[in-house]
Amino acid sequence: MPAGASSRIEVLPPEVAARIAAGEVIERPASVVKELIENALDAGATAIQVELREGGFAWIRVADNGTGIPRDQLPLALARFATSKIRSVEDLTRVRTLGFRGEALPSIAAVARVEILTRTAEEIEGTRLLAEEGRITMQPAASPVGTVVTVRDLFYNTPARRRFLKSPLREAERVREAVYRYALGYPEVAFRLLVDGREVLIAPPGTARDRAALIWGREAAEELIPVFWEAADLRITGLISRPTLGRSSRAFQCFYVNGRPVRSGLLAVALERPYAGRLPPGRYPLAILHIELPPAFVDVNVHPQKAEVRFSQERSVYWGVSRAVETALSGFPPPEVPPGFWPGGMPELPARPLAEPLEGYRPASRWRALGQLFQSYILAQSEEGLIVVDQHAAHEQVLFERLWSGSPPVALPTPAVLSFSAREAERLEAELDGIRSLGFDIEPFGGNAFVVRAVPAPLSGQPVEGLLSAILEELQAARRDAGDLRERLAMRLACTAAVKAGDGLSPEEMQALLDALQEAWSPSTCPHGRPAWFLLDREEIERRFLRR
Ligand code: ADP
Ligand code: MG
Repeated sequence: MPAGASSRIEVLPPEVAARIAAGEVIERPASVVKELIENALDAGATAIQVELREGGFAWIRVADNGTGIPRDQLPLALARFATSKIRSVEDLTRVRTLGFRGEALPSIAAVARVEILTRTAEEIEGTRLLAEEGRITMQPAASPVGTVVTVRDLFYNTPARRRFLKSPLREAERVREAVYRYALGYPEVAFRLLVDGREVLIAPPGTARDRAALIWGREAAEELIPVFWEAADLRITGLISRPTLGRSSRAFQCFYVNGRPVRSGLLAVALERPYAGRLPPGRYPLAILHIELPPAFVDVNVHPQKAEVRFSQERSVYWGVSRAVETALSGFPPPEVPPGFWPGGMPELPARPLAEPLEGYRPASRWRALGQLFQSYILAQSEEGLIVVDQHAAHEQVLFERLWSGSPPVALPTPAVLSFSAREAERLEAELDGIRSLGFDIEPFGGNAFVVRAVPAPLSGQPVEGLLSAILEELQAARRDAGDLRERLAMRLACTAAVKAGDGLSPEEMQALLDALQEAWSPSTCPHGRPAWFLLDREEIERRFLRR
């Protein structure tokens, strides 16, 4: 949505800035690219070009043909909490743009050398701005209408951050995934991606199916069927795969809430439920799904990278997505077994329109541990009601996310030398890179032995033998088409290391787990898609006491 040439960049008043879920926006090259693409889309660009060198560490450039930034406002674009997109706390409940915090450009400029070349349609001459080590210089320069942002020497002044990141190859891969995600969600916008001078994607404007064909391949695109479903305030559109086509990971599921790409366990489960019994286990449907609802029903301000949103009516959204998918799949033979996806039965979701919008903006309230039930469930209190958390599922999800997103190695007090059978040693040896990428320091130690010097931080304190046998179990179970090995190892290790049902937890441990879960990317489910918690809200409690 174009911010409009008339909306000036202004610094947010302190009370608004204070409401913003501030965080480390810039974690890696892909976060730079994401923020710059969002700015281009917000500026109404119809063509966006992304270019990077050496995984983005040396050089990232995002060029767009959007509105441009007027010269007199350009220095402000680099000020913290300066934005043309919102003005007040109330605006946070009506955000239609992808950006709104005014944080991205200053955060990038804090860890890199930034150059912005820009011109608006009203200006005859463009402007070049250089921001380096806190100094800003500007001069007139020739420029087409639009904006080109160049980011050089990312993390040059924060070498510790640089060290935690993966190889340039891996980071380029992440950038590619980020660009693909926007390209799939915005097929009407032309995208071009160049990596080290090589053209990786050239996508002219087209339909969603054209985009899917370009990015996922013609064959996959032909298997996609349209989704169109509308209820009072909710509209779900896009493409999903026929029940005959599944992939071995969820990497081919893209959800957009009011145009914003989000990750959400809730949406994944809602999409997958109607496929239960139709897809073999371990296969996941493909999807490009747009969920549109009034901005007041979505809290976009819950995640530092804006990668997650919170719905004020989770159940309605869940129900809507499932119905939309069911309707689209209705022409296909029904499943032979009734969907047994939810242990203990799927809660009946009422067909009701979305209720009250969020009154003003409230950040997600902290869950407070009240106690433990059956030594398996944590009972917690939130502003919305009573929360019952499955301690194993929750911990599993937290550990999984930490492992999967890459965690620093923690040295063992003394290195552990472990011996294996010849066959096991061979399996380990073959997957050493994958195992190391999770944060293990492991090396062959002669014969069939290996020495482990460090384990990923989330697993420190766990017996090393147990971790290695979990890895071996997964390697043994691995079918060649079973998808990303790293992800599966992270899942298996998370399951091994997570607290079990029956483990007593201290109040501090419960609180720490609740806090970690609230920070999670996808707190609704465990990595296998089982729910991690449910809420008994006031309405429900009152209904049970026949007060309603
Ligand atoms: P936000 O997007 O949250 O407003 P940013 O730091 O990303 O904050 O950008 C600050 C401001 O700079 C934006 O509000 C917008 O007015 C302007 N801006 C940034 N990038 C572009 C662009 N590519 N085209 C036009 N305006 C831009
Ligand atoms: Mg922005």
